[in-house]
Amino acid sequence: MGKGKLIVFSAPSGSGKTTIVQHLLNETNLALEFSISATSRLPRGEEVDGKDYYFLSINEFKNKINNDEFLEFEEVYTDNFYGTLKSEVERIWNTGKAVIFDIDVIGGLNIEKQFPDETLSIFVKPPNKTELEKRLRGRGTETEEKIQMRLAKADEELAVAPEFDAIITNDNLELAKQEAFQLVSKFLK
Ligand code: 5GP
Repeated sequence: MGKGKLIVFSAPSGSGKTTIVQHLLNETNLALEFSISATSRLPRGEEVDGKDYYFLSINEFKNKINNDEFLEFEEVYTDNFYGTLKSEVERIWNTGKAVIFDIDVIGGLNIEKQFPDETLSIFVKPPNKTELEKRLRGRGTETEEKIQMRLAKADEELAVAPEFDAIITNDNLELAKQEAFQLVSKFLK
């Protein structure tokens, strides 16, 4: 492996990262394709298998770990595994596009470590904790326990933000989208 480019977006969940990534994917002149991660968590809301994630059982996920099929993987929350399949990155590189990732901070930095010259890593920072909590509740898709779990994780994630190539603070979504576009188009030139 090792030919195309990789764009990593990481952030605490609820920071608006997914919206920014979707925006960049709609910019056809950037020629990006989304890396569909594998996960052992259940689909949420309208999520579709093979589009949002490859939804696997815990056993299927563990078999793929044993077969060395992951570029990186992690147990992000207890019993909730997430990972990037090597086959996924190869599939996208073969189309000539750059790969864009919406993945957690440890996974993001792990990819950058494996492909230092090919990767641009961007951390999306929520404006503050109150706003983050509001956004997580606003989704209305998760239990109180899950929300608390995500908030606790957000603190750990904010601590590693300085290790990324760039940090975008999302207090104005339109500006954050523009900033992301500029960083990515410059890197892909
Ligand atoms: P969610 O359950 O909200 O979709 O995702 C939970 C966390 O797992 C998010 O921080 C998300 O970015 C992260 N995640 C998604 N895909 C991957 C992946 O392939 N690898 C790693 N390490 N984290 C991932």
